[in-house]
Amino acid sequence: MDRGHCLCGNVRWETDGARLWSGYCHCESCRRNCAAPVAAFFGVEDGHWRWVGIAPARYTSTPDVTRYFCANCGTPVAYASKRFPGETHFYAAGLDTPAAFEPEFHVHYAEHVPWMIVADDLPRYPHGGNEGEPE
Ligand SMILES: [Zn+2]
Ligand SMILES: [Zn+2]
Repeated sequence: MDRGHCLCGNVRWETDGARLWSGYCHCESCRRNCAAPVAAFFGVEDGHWRWVGIAPARYTSTPDVTRYFCANCGTPVAYASKRFPGETHFYAAGLDTPAAFEPEFHVHYAEHVPWMIVADDLPRYPHGGNEGEPE
């Protein structure tokens, strides 16, 4: 089971433990939403996770995308998009045990900031993971 929480602890979530995939997103939207050079996240099938404690607030960043955050402390906690029906994406940095994360790829690498030095050998998809070949 995975568990995570926001900075103040109001918003907590837990999953049944199965992750669909794990990766990094370098897109501008995630960068601005998280105020961080890259977002580390993983997908969980809907029906296999739940909010615990106070439910988060939502921001609809585009008509298809909902971003969940703590209304008290502002921490981003999750992401859902109509492009990925039936799954919700949780930020790995919010895990109660953040070391327990095994990223598999980078997406939207074409948008990465040059001062974010990536030294792993994971595939770097220039756009979404299902669009084109990795670098
Ligand atoms: Zn909070
Ligand atoms: Zn992104």
